[in-house]
Amino acid sequence: MDCVTMEKIVSLAKRRGFVFQSSEIYGGQSGAWDYGPLGVELKNRIARNWWREMIQLNDNIVGLDSAILMHPRTWEASGHIENFTDPLIDCKQCKSRFRADQLPQENRTAKKCPDCGGELTDTRRFNLMFKTHSGPLEDSTSLIYLRPETAQGIYVNYKNIIQANRLKIPFGIAQIGKAFRNEIVTKNFIFRTCEFEQMEMQYFVKPGSDTEWFEEWKKRRWAYYEKLGVRMDRLRWHQHGPDELAHYAKDAYDIEYLFPMGWKELEGVHNRSNYDLSRHIEFSGKDLQYIDQDNNERYVPFIIETSAGLTRTLLMILCDAYDEEEVEGETRTVLRFHPALAPVTVAVLPLMKKDGLASAARDLQNELKEDFTTDYDQAGAIGRRYRRQDEAGTPFCLTVDYQSKEDNTVTLRFRDSMEQIRIARAELKDRLRQEIKAYRRFA
Ligand code: ATP
Repeated sequence: MDCVTMEKIVSLAKRRGFVFQSSEIYGGQSGAWDYGPLGVELKNRIARNWWREMIQLNDNIVGLDSAILMHPRTWEASGHIENFTDPLIDCKQCKSRFRADQLPQENRTAKKCPDCGGELTDTRRFNLMFKTHSGPLEDSTSLIYLRPETAQGIYVNYKNIIQANRLKIPFGIAQIGKAFRNEIVTKNFIFRTCEFEQMEMQYFVKPGSDTEWFEEWKKRRWAYYEKLGVRMDRLRWHQHGPDELAHYAKDAYDIEYLFPMGWKELEGVHNRSNYDLSRHIEFSGKDLQYIDQDNNERYVPFIIETSAGLTRTLLMILCDAYDEEEVEGETRTVLRFHPALAPVTVAVLPLMKKDGLASAARDLQNELKEDFTTDYDQAGAIGRRYRRQDEAGTPFCLTVDYQSKEDNTVTLRFRDSMEQIRIARAELKDRLRQEIKAYRRFA
């Protein structure tokens, strides 16, 4: 796994303002994290990039932003109240808590704690949904849940959307938003958290065509990561076995990424059959069948879901981009983000603060601001400033020097190769746009 470790990622994320522990001054809130100035930029860009891929590039996929709080019957219908549980095991001695399915088989069989060797309890089922109360009364009639997935908001709205948008099957509805799960174990930084964001797309298809669409969406999601410039040898498919399949799934594959702690799920592509819509028909008493006027047919559509964690994708992008190399006897740490995802696209650096170079650099930054996310840095030696931008993953640096004043050119430095070229100011914007579009991390 070369140079990247979770310790390095956590430390860089904090040092450079990507991710902070939630409520750190009070000792931290487990399972919750805050995204700092660079982190929120990166997260927004990943979200925007996914949105573009789903909505902008597909005529038949539309967006939605549904509420986190939903009618509690939703979760009865979806099966989450009954089935959305994890198997929980405690150590009687050291009080460590484990998800039974993540414990080594020998520990489960011997009921022996992997940490201290103490005796383990029997397995209990534990529901992962966060509960709260709506309104002033705290009784069972006011019980309400924080959504554990964004998908249900799509299902309960699908008829509204068909009517408003005149959609015909096959079509998709995409949503990005917060989801909450009371996870038993939340280690590995932002990999598994209690509050996180999902990017989900539900594709409604005619029963019988679902297997074909399932294969198609597997292909498209794989191609998406290729486009993002991720190291494809760190991605693989994992098909859910019969004991792994969720209660709603007919077939399910995960795209797994080789994180520093091993191969782990990044995104799920699921054939959810007509389970969810059929259950909502049963529980709401509403007719949620699709009416195919062209063919005079009615049916409950099947649904192919692509479900990716936004915050988990951010962790993947950080791990994937992380690199170290020896440069002139020093270690250079560099985040090789795709320029479309990098929190800062271009940094403007005056060679010196004096002789009008700082104000010329500020001028240049102002000129670029309308079109690119920029940063300005005048503190310290130029080499150090380049390193700071490398560590933030900024793909391009522009240096304003004495020659700039004479001939209106600047130095453009590329993060990955560290190559520097001289370029006329008038050509800059076009050149940057071209570089972003043509970017290939691997030849
Ligand atoms: P697991 O079995 O690992 O708990 P899951 O299979 O239940 O996860 P899904 O319900 O398929 O996960 O969720 C879809 C996606 O949402 C996952 O691929 C992951 O990227 C993201 N996700 C799920 N749970 C969490 C979490 N607790 N923290 C961060 N991201 C999550």
